[in-house]
Amino acid sequence: MNSIQNESVEKIARIQWLELQKQLLYLQKNSKFYKKLFKDNAIDISEIRTEADLRRIPLTTKEDLQNYNEDFLCVSEEEVIDYVTTSGTLGNPVNFALNENDLERLAENERQSFEMIGMLKGDKVQITTTLDRRFIAGMAYFLGLRKLGAGIIRTGSGLPHLQWDSILRFKPNYLVAVPSFLLKMIEYAQANSIDYKNSSVKAAVCIGEPLRDQHNNLNALGKKITQLWDIELFSTYASTEMATSFTECVYHTGNHIKPELIYTEVLDESGNPVKIGEIGELVISTLQVQTMPLLRFATGDLVSYIADICECGRNSMRLSPVLGRKKQHIKYKGTSLYPQHIIDVLIGEVLIPNFIIVVQKDEVGMDLLSIKLADTISEKEIAVLRQGFQTSLQVIPEIVLVNEKELNKLKHPVGSRKPVLFLDLRTTEI
Ligand SMILES: [Zn+2]
Repeated sequence: MNSIQNESVEKIARIQWLELQKQLLYLQKNSKFYKKLFKDNAIDISEIRTEADLRRIPLTTKEDLQNYNEDFLCVSEEEVIDYVTTSGTLGNPVNFALNENDLERLAENERQSFEMIGMLKGDKVQITTTLDRRFIAGMAYFLGLRKLGAGIIRTGSGLPHLQWDSILRFKPNYLVAVPSFLLKMIEYAQANSIDYKNSSVKAAVCIGEPLRDQHNNLNALGKKITQLWDIELFSTYASTEMATSFTECVYHTGNHIKPELIYTEVLDESGNPVKIGEIGELVISTLQVQTMPLLRFATGDLVSYIADICECGRNSMRLSPVLGRKKQHIKYKGTSLYPQHIIDVLIGEVLIPNFIIVVQKDEVGMDLLSIKLADTISEKEIAVLRQGFQTSLQVIPEIVLVNEKELNKLKHPVGSRKPVLFLDLRTTEI
């Protein structure tokens, strides 16, 4: 497989559409789930010739994957090599499986991603994410780097001392990391007098957390990391379901789509495509996948298309960073918001580390937005925060001061592995 990204926009679209048609035929022949879906909706796939035709096919949801998981399997079980699950951030994890072809496709996907950020054969890369735990991406990084010809150090997740020991021993110039873990590594280096600022590491390929805002500038987390450690951060966006990653090139102006591996749509609430630059839900169809291909899968992630030509010369469309989850949309005093917008003001502009964003409905069904803060905050800080909200969001949420202990209890409910920063008390979905 060679990347088609440098072909003309028209040729890319043509190749992508051919791949999609191949996948439709494959699903019609091999997928129990999609065969039934086509039949139930009287869809003859030979009549799917345009994007408008494609939109006649109903969306596949996370619930479909949960309820009919085995019906998505298109190969016999003896062909399966790798069994993985989704992360399960919003619900139960879902099973996925990959055969030889899918692992090779995944390797090619990551090879292209690493190449896109300027990595070459001979570069050394330390993978600080897990390679096991049923995680699709760890193995994908290893396979992609191997295909590229890079040197790989598999430290796995956590263990800052092992990370630094490996950096000092093997002198990698790249890390693959979750952004907030980079902060932990910096903390460890500072506490143990490691000269991290002069280490061999020049850049990190980041996963799992947004690093940039909708204008592609570093967000609060990204700024915090680079202020402490002057390395280049590359944002990527991927999921088990998509089996493909969207990656920034060296110009950092959105995540390039790999058109031969995935077909994307960005849709409004009514299922119609949004205009370039407008925000909508990302709907994907995997291409060239054999074991569990997905057709028109609704990711729940809100993104926009970036269409202007990238300076790197690739003509593929790009996606903005994920700007929110569809279910987390807030409409407050006529303004559309997502939790990340509010978090960026709290952390980025005012540096308030301890907060919870609460959204609930008032008696007429409108969203009420408030921020709970520890009552140790000063009047002056509150004034700066209000100003920050007004400037960045054009609205000021209600600010509620609570006892610090009470706030921490709310932030760390029993059984939760991550602190709760956003509490959604609305009962009806939007
Ligand atoms: Zn580019």
